[in-house]
Amino acid sequence: MNKEDSKTVKSLLSSPHKIVIIPHKNPDGDAIGSTLGLMHYLKNKGQQAVVIAPNDFPKFLKWMPGQEEIIIFENDKEVAEKYITEASIIFTLDFNHLSRVGFMQETLEAAEGTFIMIDHHQAPSDYAKVTYSDVHMSSTCEMVYNFIEAIEQDTSKITSKIANCLYTGIMTDTGSFKYSSTTSRTHRVVADLIDKGAENMAIHNKVFDTNSPSRLHILGCALKNMVILEDYHTAYITLSQEELDENEFKKGDTEGIVNYGLTLDNIIFAVIFIENKDEGIIKISFRSQGNFSVNEFARAHFEGGGHDNAAGGKSNVSLEETTAKFVALLDSYKDQLKG
Ligand code: 5GP
Ligand code: MN
Repeated sequence: MNKEDSKTVKSLLSSPHKIVIIPHKNPDGDAIGSTLGLMHYLKNKGQQAVVIAPNDFPKFLKWMPGQEEIIIFENDKEVAEKYITEASIIFTLDFNHLSRVGFMQETLEAAEGTFIMIDHHQAPSDYAKVTYSDVHMSSTCEMVYNFIEAIEQDTSKITSKIANCLYTGIMTDTGSFKYSSTTSRTHRVVADLIDKGAENMAIHNKVFDTNSPSRLHILGCALKNMVILEDYHTAYITLSQEELDENEFKKGDTEGIVNYGLTLDNIIFAVIFIENKDEGIIKISFRSQGNFSVNEFARAHFEGGGHDNAAGGKSNVSLEETTAKFVALLDSYKDQLKG
């Protein structure tokens, strides 16, 4: 964060405020970790701070310190709206466009509080008074660490609760420290978080080793459905609503399945198409290895975006029509998909 922004934030936080902290819709480990980490920090500074998520978050995150206090907009609309309307400061974390909060967008657009954005996605929009945006960051959690360091001049205010929250988001957003966004600085931050009480082994177990039978059954179905297009170094997976229902799908069960495509030798582009009959859409996740930008691909063709190597999007036509559109597009990307 630049000096001017940290000065602005410091002066804002020098008086007491009602603060809300918002993650994106379908919040992941980084979204929940960063919002909760920031919440603990602000509360410790004597601020009133509450996290309001657009909708529920996966079970494998329901151990995080403070998670029980998160207000779910979808389930508790009136309470959530009151907090947002009354807030004098609104932090938006791990997203950079108000459309990423889904049905909460209108409430946020009407809110009068001062917006502060902390985010590592491409192409931030300009709704915030302070925009701390850096696409080179591994995670929003790493940025919250920097944010606290910039305000306090050191990291001594990072408690073990904050450390556990921030560690979780860095771990999940870096694929356990293996994606190219993982820098030596990321490792230094993580080392400091462990020194401050992040229980690294326990966190790993709680996030990755708590699969439910339904998740493994859905994974089995997904892997069976995988289509490998060797000429395009591409693998894609489909999951229909019927398949999800048959396997007793629960929120979070499909998290990370898209990555299996990239574990194949010579595959640099992996995609999963998940039918959601309730919302009438096909939710899509894109992953790539190397220079092929899935952010640009998602933006150009599937109303989405994200990062160069991990992005998402959606489609409003059927699963079959969506995959047909996708496959037809690949030829024009043949040069970039050489691997
Ligand atoms: P995932 O595939 O794990 O849902 O998302 C991968 C990355 O792309 C995340 O950083 C996420 O925030 C972003 N992303 C997912 N879906 C969308 C979308 O519909 N629009 C935009 N702009 N970004 C998305
Ligand atoms: Mn993130």
